[in-house]
Amino acid sequence: MENNHLKIAMICLHSSPIGNIGTQDTGGMSVYVRELSRELGRLGHYVDIYTRNNVESCSRTITLCERVRIIHLTVKDSSHLSKYELHPLIPEFLSSLENFRSQEEICYDLIYSHYWLSGILGEWAREIWKVPHLIMFHTLGALKNSCGMGQQESELRISAEKKLAELSSGIIMASNRERNNFMRYYGAALEKTDLVPCGVHFEIFRPTESRKARLKLGLALEEKIILYVGRLDPLKGIDRLMKAFTLLSSRNSVRLIIVGENGCPGSALEKLMTDLGIRKSVSFFERVNHTLLPLYYSAADVLAVPSLYESFGLVALESLACGTPVVATPVGSMEKIIIKGETGLVTSDFSVQALAEALNFYVSGKNKTRAETVRSSIAEYTWSRSAKGVLRFFNDVLSEHPKKRSAEHLFKSPFFLKSYAYEKQSGHIGHKSTPG
Ligand code: UDP
Repeated sequence: MENNHLKIAMICLHSSPIGNIGTQDTGGMSVYVRELSRELGRLGHYVDIYTRNNVESCSRTITLCERVRIIHLTVKDSSHLSKYELHPLIPEFLSSLENFRSQEEICYDLIYSHYWLSGILGEWAREIWKVPHLIMFHTLGALKNSCGMGQQESELRISAEKKLAELSSGIIMASNRERNNFMRYYGAALEKTDLVPCGVHFEIFRPTESRKARLKLGLALEEKIILYVGRLDPLKGIDRLMKAFTLLSSRNSVRLIIVGENGCPGSALEKLMTDLGIRKSVSFFERVNHTLLPLYYSAADVLAVPSLYESFGLVALESLACGTPVVATPVGSMEKIIIKGETGLVTSDFSVQALAEALNFYVSGKNKTRAETVRSSIAEYTWSRSAKGVLRFFNDVLSEHPKKRSAEHLFKSPFFLKSYAYEKQSGHIGHKSTPG
């Protein structure tokens, strides 16, 4: 490796890696940033994760593990804003970021940002620091919009993503499908992207005997269980899952368990299950921490991933690591991580019928694959491998990046920053770009 012990500025603006995972804006991206950073730290690299302070904690800096810190960017009144309201505040986040960096006199080797909002912040920081800027988008606005469900993503977001595809030093994608779609929808160049799949924490996500898990969770022993884990976003397709449930041949002895967010009292989903007449067969659980989630996966006969869009789909890996097969729609990395007919099924389309058919197999008692076989099928998906893959790309990018440190002294001045942030108030990225 050419650059031992890199100093990495990880930017994850809207959602904290130590936030309540499984709630509205805090899902796979937060898990990714947390687990990847830990691995990078374990490998001897230094990671500062910059995020806004929307966790119940006021400390400016929190040590996540050796060499990895979380730094809360303090921008007045921003902690309770939705991510959609953060864009105009990016100049202030930049001031907070640069003031911290200059106070600590750190020179980062590179920036790795997550999601388009962080990408804009990262791009502006790149202009000042003159170091490479890499991005992982996690989701793409144009792809979300192509599903025609949920909140439409703004033109602002899509044009920012296009600009970032052009300006950034590299883009990391977690699945081949996402990479291909990125090139198709955004005209991005293949050479600028790298494919690095996500991982799973095998020590946490491990099988427990189903009966034991059900007893611990107070679940019935005689029912078949279909499990859904995740945020309750319309793109997750939970409504289709409920409709598929009504088509199951043995539905009276099957329970659908939905884990995530606040258990959805009063939501459209609650109304839907009443309309479909499946209220008694569906149980909602409020978000569950990773320490307890393996029990849910182990208790289930199958995990359903009925999404219309995923950039990767971490819950599928977690379920497989717990020995529980997965039935999924063709999204994210599903075809890559599921062995057809052995560790699960990927439907050929997004229809309710196809989902019901695949689920029928797993609630009919026909599945004979042992939990250990399911688990070992994804043994290669460790976070350590993800970190090494990301580092390989970092080093490729760094080896092509000219070192430009000459103007650094300028940027330690908070006065400079104030005027810099002011100039950026226009909200456009890269309009005065000085490629580093
Ligand atoms: N998750 C959780 N508790 C919950 C629901 C979800 O910790 O109650 C976690 C889940 O274990 C996974 C992440 O949230 O690690 C969801 O990631 P995924 O890639 O499946 O979906 P995303 O949220 O990125 O759309």
